[in-house]
Amino acid sequence: MITVPAFATGQVALWTVALYGALATCLLIALIYRILMQKSRLASAIDNMTQGLLLFDANKRVVICNQRYIDIYGVSSDIVKPGCSLRDVLLHRKELGSLIGDVDAYCERVANDLSEGGRPFILSLADGRFIQIIDRSMASGGWVSTHEDITERRRIDKAIEDMALRDSLTGLPNRGFFQKRLGTEFESPNNPKFALLFIDVDDFKSINDTLGHEAGDDLLRAVAARLHICAARDSDFVARLGGDEFVIIRRFSSDPDEIEKLVAEIFALLHEPIECSGERVLIDVSIGIGISPNHGSDPSTLMRNADTAMYQAKAAGKRTHLFYEPAMTASLNARRRLEADLRHAVLSKDIGSNGFSLYFQPLVALADGRITSCEALLRWHHPLLGPISPEQFIPIAEDSRLIIELGEWVLKEALAAASSWPINIGVAVNVSPVQFRSPSLALKVLNALVISGVAPQRLELEITETILIGDDKTALATLHQLHAAGVRIALDDFGTGYSSLSYLQRFPFDKIKIDKTFINRIDDSVGSAHIVRAIVDIATAQGMTTTAEGVETENQLAALKHLGCTEMQGFLFSRPLPATEISELLSHDVEIRKLMVC
Ligand code: C2E
Ligand code: CA
Ligand code: CA
Repeated sequence: MITVPAFATGQVALWTVALYGALATCLLIALIYRILMQKSRLASAIDNMTQGLLLFDANKRVVICNQRYIDIYGVSSDIVKPGCSLRDVLLHRKELGSLIGDVDAYCERVANDLSEGGRPFILSLADGRFIQIIDRSMASGGWVSTHEDITERRRIDKAIEDMALRDSLTGLPNRGFFQKRLGTEFESPNNPKFALLFIDVDDFKSINDTLGHEAGDDLLRAVAARLHICAARDSDFVARLGGDEFVIIRRFSSDPDEIEKLVAEIFALLHEPIECSGERVLIDVSIGIGISPNHGSDPSTLMRNADTAMYQAKAAGKRTHLFYEPAMTASLNARRRLEADLRHAVLSKDIGSNGFSLYFQPLVALADGRITSCEALLRWHHPLLGPISPEQFIPIAEDSRLIIELGEWVLKEALAAASSWPINIGVAVNVSPVQFRSPSLALKVLNALVISGVAPQRLELEITETILIGDDKTALATLHQLHAAGVRIALDDFGTGYSSLSYLQRFPFDKIKIDKTFINRIDDSVGSAHIVRAIVDIATAQGMTTTAEGVETENQLAALKHLGCTEMQGFLFSRPLPATEISELLSHDVEIRKLMVC
């Protein structure tokens, strides 16, 4: 057995205590080191935060202030430091200009925000920056205040918001922006009178289809810029609703003449030629006007009514402006119903059994009174409303493109009728510009000729100058194709519309049909005889014949013979007649000719 002396046992105990003591010191040093490290990391993390941070104790004194806070407000770290009170921080900032307003009010705002659970507060600084501040209470009784510079974020948000409210093509406010603005216009406390103008470019679709979308875009940008010039008052508002639709809001005192003046300025400026992809294009617009509150005491009613007035302006022949009237709503509804009925009638299998028929009106040679051809004129007998004038339903058929099917039917029917007439009698068919936009028109016409057995030389297509606006390549190619096949081409309604003599250079027409408005006034003292003479002279020089439309009196007939016009057409000789009656008339042509000559 081993025995341990007593002194040895005491020494071991001493050594053990010393060892534990050293170990504990090491551990303590390690712990302090760790704490210090953590504190320094924490301090560095706090200083490198993207937000400014202030930590306050329950006595409203600063415990921590990070570097970012110092940087945001440019304050001195000698003043804003632990122990400094909230008031002192604020007074220092007020001195430096990063706090505008009352220090007490600011303290009150902090107290309120803390009691409401730390709702964000945006502070705008004199230098244009925006700082978002959130004050949040801590369990210990103090609070944390974070300060974030959100200037850039707000700028981006604003740019995105602006983009969402602007039309990217023209830079004008878009529909959404317009609706907001119209709403605020109605909420305006002094309730100023204002006019809402709905502006729609006439025949924009055909310009776009003809010249291409780039030119269409150029045109819309030019229209936007010009409207902006017209509506230049601070309180004016111009927007693009989409497509070719624009709006203007104009406040005015009480005199509606102010609006008439604005409209006159718009028409004057928009009538100036527009350069589109190298082409000079002439445009027109239709304008519908609603006045608040007479024509609508809320945004949607006023918008609907101004829009209705614009549609009425279109239906009234375009290139005009109309103020809203309650009767227009009924008329627009009637037009919509008519369009639905027309669609039903045209798209059903057998167009002929749906109230459509062709009448024919003879064209007579002025030299010998001989009928040269007959113009096919479409008639529509509505099942409930009875006969509807083509002047009413043709524009609806054109706007809805139903004219394409309807026009094909007219062509086939007219050729079928002509196939039973004497072979020296031609047949004239009206072709709408809408039909000319289709590249297959020439093929359809030639096909219909083959089926009917009518010689191409007997067919005359009547077109209006609208199809030549903007040098439509498809339309011109179609015209040349048909002309080369022997089909005759007549320029209808000459003297109305744009009436540019330059259109006569664009295609070698066989005939000019002089519009009835000139024939009406041909025998007045201040009449249009000299215009008719000029047209006849130009036509003769270019190898074209002339037909006077709407001849109703013997005096007109005598004047036309005197002026050297080739043909006449009008009630004086015959009204348009159904196919059976025209056949009858053609068989008696010889006797009529005798009457005419004497
Ligand atoms: P438009 O091509 O100028 O046709 C001549 C119009 O003048 C016809 O009117 C005819 O009835 C009318 N008229 C003829 N002689 C006289 C007269 O002595 N005095 C007066 N005041 N009027 C006369 P309607 O049949 O009402 O046709 C109107 C318009 O509708 C036509 O004008 C034409 O633009 C269009 N239209 C008619 N049928 C068709 C068609 O099949 N296709 C297309 N695209 N348009 C058509
Ligand atoms: Ca015609
Ligand atoms: Ca005509």
